[in-house]
Amino acid sequence: MAGTPLHFHDLTRSELTGLIASWGFSPVHAARLWSYVYNDGTTEIADMPEIPVRLRERLGQEISLAPPAVVSELRSTDGFTRKYLLGLGDGRRIETVLMHFTGRVTACVSSQAGCAMGCGFCATGRMGFGRNLTPGEIVSQVLHVRRETGPGAAVAGSRLRNVVLMGMGEPLYNYDAVMKAVSILRDQNGPAIGVRRITLSTVGVIPGILRLADEANPPHLAVSLHAATQAERAALVPVAAHWPLDALIEACRRYCEKQERRIFFEWALIAGRNDTPEQAHAVGRLLRGLPAQVNLIPLNPIVGYDGAPSDRTAARRFQETLAGYGLPSTVRQRRGLDIAAGCGQLAATTAAEEPAR
Ligand code: SAH
Ligand code: SF4
Repeated sequence: MAGTPLHFHDLTRSELTGLIASWGFSPVHAARLWSYVYNDGTTEIADMPEIPVRLRERLGQEISLAPPAVVSELRSTDGFTRKYLLGLGDGRRIETVLMHFTGRVTACVSSQAGCAMGCGFCATGRMGFGRNLTPGEIVSQVLHVRRETGPGAAVAGSRLRNVVLMGMGEPLYNYDAVMKAVSILRDQNGPAIGVRRITLSTVGVIPGILRLADEANPPHLAVSLHAATQAERAALVPVAAHWPLDALIEACRRYCEKQERRIFFEWALIAGRNDTPEQAHAVGRLLRGLPAQVNLIPLNPIVGYDGAPSDRTAARRFQETLAGYGLPSTVRQRRGLDIAAGCGQLAATTAAEEPAR
């Protein structure tokens, strides 16, 4: 973007090395800088005594290390979830969620400000599209969560282990930035998030899934299915009209075969809508032969969408039907409901609460 200063987190380690070499500095300093930022968590150039003063001055002029501003933070009463509304350099706001399990933490990060896909049950979808995030803005969210696991911080003593691209936005419509962020996050001398510990969730963008299938080591893939027939799916997920269900499943099959991996499917359980025995049998038939796992998530109710979450009995019955087809599934706990932890809900609420200007 014109006028936006380069952010440290936009650079891979080799790009940083190349950049400071072009300024006449040795690669040794790039390694040290990388370690200050990613191992020590330093966010101020002034706090890097081992870097030559001239290089620090140049960095200060050309590169930003600023973390995103925390506009607000909400904690769920069950203690498992913290949700951050982060402010970007241009004033846009995105959501990042920290999910705390015993001893470990998962960061749920956004890939876009808003989303153009328009799913009616999703608060981000109702907000519309703002812009793509930069690689640095994606990496910065993960580092923000990691800082919360540091000494004296929110969930001190727990380790950031997993990253899920399941926050605001459609990651496969911001493919290059997302993949660059993934490679920075995996850097063994950097954040060192394990290669198997990053999962990307897509609404079902077929060309993006096929591209992922051809990558050397892509993230795990979760596909938001929500319905097992083309007509039902297009009614819930408008973009499904462009990406027909049978072609989507073929793309998923190709990802699994080329990567020799299993694949996840997400299913927001909406009472009386997609939690019926007919839909469960249709999923079983649709996914037959795929190394798939279905993650069932009772709908997080949002303002403006009149669907209700399925109850436990319906969820269990759905699961049992899937099991009959040999399909493993989980019912995700409805964590953080009291803090609007569903995708896009916090940004939507905050925007609605702000006085008109
Ligand atoms: N755009 C991507 C990733 C972000 S949405 C995608 O759609 O997959 C992450 C997940 O949250 C998706 O499975 C999405 O369908 C789900 N989701 C959105 N709003 C929800 C709600 N109100 N209740 C339950 N799940 C929701
Ligand atoms: Fe976008 Fe995903 Fe929300 Fe649909 S569910 S509007 S694709 S963020």
